[in-house]
Amino acid sequence: MDYSLIINGAKRPTAAYADVPNPSTGALVGKMPLGTPKDLDDAVAAAAAAFKTWSVTPDAERKAACHAIAAKIEAHAEELAKLITAEQGKQLNGLGSRFEVGGTVAWTHATADLELPVAVLQDNEQGRIELHRKPIGVIGSITPWNWPMLIGSWHLIPAVRTGNTVVIKPSPYTPLSTLRMVELMNEVLPPGVVNVVSGSDSLGAAMSSHPGIQKMVFTGSISTGKKIMASSAPTLKRLTLELGGNDAGIVLPDADPKAIAPGLFWGAFINGGQTCAALKRLYVHDSLYDQVCNALVDFAKTVPMGDGMDETVQLGPIQNEMQFNRVCELVEDAKQHGGRILCGGARTGTTGYFYPITFIADVKEGVRLVDEEQFGPVLPIIRYTDVDSIIERANDNPHGLGGSVWSSDAAKAKQLAQRLECGTAWVNKHGGIQPNAPFGGIKLSGIGVEFSDEGLKEYTVSQTVYC
Ligand code: NAD
Repeated sequence: MDYSLIINGAKRPTAAYADVPNPSTGALVGKMPLGTPKDLDDAVAAAAAAFKTWSVTPDAERKAACHAIAAKIEAHAEELAKLITAEQGKQLNGLGSRFEVGGTVAWTHATADLELPVAVLQDNEQGRIELHRKPIGVIGSITPWNWPMLIGSWHLIPAVRTGNTVVIKPSPYTPLSTLRMVELMNEVLPPGVVNVVSGSDSLGAAMSSHPGIQKMVFTGSISTGKKIMASSAPTLKRLTLELGGNDAGIVLPDADPKAIAPGLFWGAFINGGQTCAALKRLYVHDSLYDQVCNALVDFAKTVPMGDGMDETVQLGPIQNEMQFNRVCELVEDAKQHGGRILCGGARTGTTGYFYPITFIADVKEGVRLVDEEQFGPVLPIIRYTDVDSIIERANDNPHGLGGSVWSSDAAKAKQLAQRLECGTAWVNKHGGIQPNAPFGGIKLSGIGVEFSDEGLKEYTVSQTVYC
């Protein structure tokens, strides 16, 4: 299949293309069109022109268009799932690419049904004051490679639902599913409402300084988020930044190791750990430390890893070489600092970026694997003895995306979870998100939220009307 930029509803040929390899096999999945600064300018101009009519299109029509997009994606679900597996690596089954496409459909319907009605602030003999929500203009969206389609839809659908128009730039590692998704969206939407320009990182930098874009929504690393914030400053763009995490999970002495092992495992290793709000540091009380370690290692043995196209596989490879090398480096560093490998700990095979599920015991803060985001199938398990100081230790980290507490006493766990410095806290689970609940990071993990009416508001400016 040929993949193309989509500008003003039409496919735009490019002079150059880059190969997109399959991370499981190295085989060519497709060719990414390399957009130029001129393509970006044209996409922004198309979005600005479309904004004039889309912003005043009746709300019911925009809602219906979003539902129609969901139906269109659902009708192509298997094709899209296989494309995601081929370019991203995650498996088709379980919490893999079919789950990603299904989530995109469900989220799109749920976002279509959100409303931002006019709020009446005052209505009396002194007068009436209304608060209206209006679209912002052209939105620039930049997405990462871990959940390319789902995260793309999280940017596009609320923007379109509220009357904005968009230029999206997918990650150069996983551009194809977004190019195809936008092509399908353009079968529903008027030309120019959603445009896609793929290419190198420099296109992203050009977007965040582009004078024709009024807001940036970005999901990716903290370092890139800082650059986007800096280059957005001269044009004072609105920003939503969903950045990296280093979520702590805390297992209290009264937890049941066997019962919590599956939840801990998938909290850490959904998408092979390449998930922003995955559990990335596990603190376990000394009294059940060995039992939790053993239960996790036993559970890991039941989870097959391999080429995601294989229907029996539950975990795929790391997505790209850069990330693979980073994971190897962090594991070696942990070993050198006294880390004890419970399972995994070295590359398997020579084809693809497969790294086995790895648990590392006897490390603590000060070791890079604990302090930094690993973004791969490796979990440090940290022993603690003092329950009173454990929240403080977990909070002593610049990230603030998610966190969890695990205990047989849910009320006690909830109290502690609320003291974690993070945007989302879970009790006896980790990483679950829903379209009706805001999600976002604090500290270096981001600015703003997505999902629910709180997330929808971020695609609007307010207008107070005295009438
Ligand atoms: P990345 O920051 O390397 O790249 C993300 C996107 O930014 C890509 O499209 C890339 O081309 C673009 N980009 C690179 N340099 C740029 C620049 N100077 N200006 C503008 N755009 C630029 O991130 P990644 O490696 O693709 O994704 C992994 C990171 O994303 C992890 O840290 C993860 O935690 C984070 N993430 C966060 C969330 C969240 O919701 N908080 C969700 C998923 C991923």
